[in-house]
Amino acid sequence: MKRAIRILINATPTVSLALAVVTVFLWRLSYHQLRRTYCQTPRSTYVASISRGEFSLEGHRSSVFSRVTLVSGVRWWSESHHARYVSDDAASRIPSDRAPVAGFYFGRSIGTEGSSTVILIPIWFVVALLAVPPALAFRRDARRRRGVRRAATGHCAQCGYDCRATPDRCPECGAVPIAKDARLPEPRG
Ligand SMILES: [Zn+2]
Repeated sequence: MKRAIRILINATPTVSLALAVVTVFLWRLSYHQLRRTYCQTPRSTYVASISRGEFSLEGHRSSVFSRVTLVSGVRWWSESHHARYVSDDAASRIPSDRAPVAGFYFGRSIGTEGSSTVILIPIWFVVALLAVPPALAFRRDARRRRGVRRAATGHCAQCGYDCRATPDRCPECGAVPIAKDARLPEPRG
């Protein structure tokens, strides 16, 4: 279990980077194509779409009284339209009169027909979020390599101070080299 978690943590930056690349592709695509994926259940319809740089999630739930069409089971389908010929996008289906703020929106409306929830997220924001784990991994790796390089030339791994005269402890920042710190005292006798 621990091993599985470790593998998952180690894989996160790579997976995240791959998803970021795919999202950049979708971001670009969203200005040419409107893509929607639907999921319909007997009482609800969920729609995930990309349109003009926006990622939107919608959920529409029919009230008990307005169940005109009965669908059994769960149905999935998707559609795409050329952006040039489609006038409506996710923003136009916002249920209330509040406008999205910097491309972000969360709205919920409840009527006699049922309820609707709309979430709008700019695709650039999703890309930025996905870029965080690989960026952190890259920084951690660069720091580690810098430390190794410094230590190899007798410099402090932490601050880079020349420790050739004082190899046991850095006089500048007080850092103790890990190898020296971990060394156990020699058994006597
Ligand atoms: Zn130092």
